[in-house]
Formats: sequence, C-alpha cells, structure tokens
Amino acid sequence: MSKIYQVYGQSAHEMTLQLLETAQAVRLVPSQGNVVLKPNLVIAGTPESGATTHPGVLSGCIEYFQSHGVQQISVMEGSWIGDNTMRAMQVAGYDQVCRKYNVPFFDLKKDKTRTVETAIGKMDICQSALDAGLLVDLPVLKGHGQTIMTCALKNLKGCLPDREKRHFHAMGLHRPIAALGAYLKPRLIVVDSICGDLDFEEGGNPVTMNRMYLGTDAVQLDAYGCQLMGIDLEAVPYIFLCEQFGGGSTAMDPSDLVELNHPEAGMETKFRKPAGIVGRITRNVQADSACSACFAALARALYVGNMQGTSDMHIGQGWRGKSFEGIGIGNCCSGGTSCVHGCPPTADAVLEALTKQA
Ligand code: SF4
Repeated sequence: MSKIYQVYGQSAHEMTLQLLETAQAVRLVPSQGNVVLKPNLVIAGTPESGATTHPGVLSGCIEYFQSHGVQQISVMEGSWIGDNTMRAMQVAGYDQVCRKYNVPFFDLKKDKTRTVETAIGKMDICQSALDAGLLVDLPVLKGHGQTIMTCALKNLKGCLPDREKRHFHAMGLHRPIAALGAYLKPRLIVVDSICGDLDFEEGGNPVTMNRMYLGTDAVQLDAYGCQLMGIDLEAVPYIFLCEQFGGGSTAMDPSDLVELNHPEAGMETKFRKPAGIVGRITRNVQADSACSACFAALARALYVGNMQGTSDMHIGQGWRGKSFEGIGIGNCCSGGTSCVHGCPPTADAVLEALTKQA
C-alpha cells in the first residue's frame, strides 16, 4: 500500500512544496526523463470557482522540480469539448506561471496521438502523455454529474483528443476511464482539495476544504476522495474497474495517511456530502451517451432556471440520426421536434429554449 501525504492550509504553492519535499518526489523522475504536469483545466474557470487546479499547485511543482535540477518540465492539458484550452489556461492564471518559470504549455487538443492497446481495446491517447518521463496528475477533488465524483483517474481524460473523449461517453465512461487510468498509471498525483465544487464539474458552487494530498496510486487516491466526500465506492464503478485492470489498489490502512500538519483553529476542512443536485434534476431526461460539456450545459440551465428535467428532453450521441417527439439538446439531437443546436450548446441557450417551452 502506498502512503498518502496530507496537508491543510490555503496557500496552494506552499502546500504543494511541502507535500513534494516530504514525499521526496524527485526520486520518481527517471534519469534524463522529463516531468509533465497535467492539471484539471476542464473549462475556462478560476480555481476559486471550484473547477480548476490552482495555479499555485503548478508553480509549487515547477519550483520544486527545478530546485532539484530537473530541466525538462512542461504543462499539458486539453479542455472539454467546446472550450478553448488556451483561453482556459489564461483565465486560470497558468500563462503567468509558465512565463515566470519559463516552462512550456501544450494544448493537447493540438497534439499528435497514438493508438494503444488497453484493457478494453484500442484507445487513441495524446503523444505528450504517453511520452512523459514522469506524468504528474494534478486533479481537483470534485463532484460530477455523470460519474458522481472526479479526481485522479478521471482527470486523465484530458489526455485524449476530442474524438476519443466523445467515444468515451458513447462507451458509458466508467470502463474507458478505468482502462485509461490503468494504461497511463501516473506515478505521482497531487490532489487540489482546497475548494472543489462537490456537485458540478464545471464549478460555480465551491466548497472550501483547505486540504491537499499527494500519493503515488491514482486508484487509492480516488478511493480516499470518495471516503472524504462520504460516497460509497460502489457508486463510482471506474475505481474498482481500474483496480481490476491493474491500475492500483483501493486498499488503505489508517497508517498509510501521513498528516503534515493540523488545521488551524476555525479552518473549514469538513466535506459535505454532495447534494446530488445534478442527478436529481436530470433524472427524467432521456440521456444517451451525452458528452460532459453537453450534459453540464443542460444541468446548469435546469439548476439556474429552477426547473426539473422532463422525459421530453433528449441529450447525447445515442440520439444521433433518430427522430423523436420533444426537445433535443445539442446537434446530436437535431431529430427532435425542436433542438438547441451546438456541440455543445451553451447553458444560456438551453435555458432560453427551456424557458420558452415552459
Ligand atoms: S452535441 Fe453534445 S453529445 Fe453530441 S457530440 Fe456534441 S457535445 Fe457530445
């Protein structure tokens, strides 16, 4: 079983340095190997929104590895379908970090890919992720409308080209996420749990938890994340599946947890169980293989409009080419009586259409 190092506080930069120093993370860098940092930059949102990895995690990692003589460090990410990675990196403040430390940032949407054989068959993965000497996974611990939670394993989905991301949704997410995690098997993970959104992947309702933790087993860290959020492991099937595919172990002994400090008096560190808002408001929607961005646009529109999804709302790739009675969300559902076009449509456009229809 691997150790998990945990620290409380509010300075992502200092906390990251403390975690990496204590874990002596530089030992994981192969000789002559490069270090590739993979944050969560799913959308153009600030870390304070609860969606993206704090830039202090990046600066902490870069400063640590540079101070230990690592020359080749880069940052890579590909935002979700419909968002622009370079815009997202500016909104999150990564451009300043990369400039300050003279570290390149690669937009994985523009990267070359290679087809590899995973536990569930062939998969196209971005070359920069496959060629990393040390892939450092830097997720945010958050809730997710379709997979309940997202952390170390699901963050790796950003290492895919958009066409493979769509394919993941068509395959039902859990098996491909598990297979990807088992294939890439990042050897260093630093989790940003300073303020994640426990319901919406794209943020907007951040919950302050003032915590970060580091480990070397993505399966174990996701299992620990579930424990923190009060979620049964069975509710997130990709974690056990990844264990079955050889991606790591869910086992954790209390002695595996190494606490570097204690929360200051009055510091908010308690998790509240995700309210399950997204599941509740989309329960009756006819969803079939919907991409995250499309599904999030619908969920956000329903939430903001204080509406409940109904069975005449259709969303997802499974509706492509089919005719149906009711409203379609996204270009895949253009066979409906009406459709909110876009791939994905914006939450505002969905809200406008649903409000007109109501
Ligand atoms: S319309 Fe939505 S579900 Fe269809 S491919 Fe685009 S983002 Fe995915």
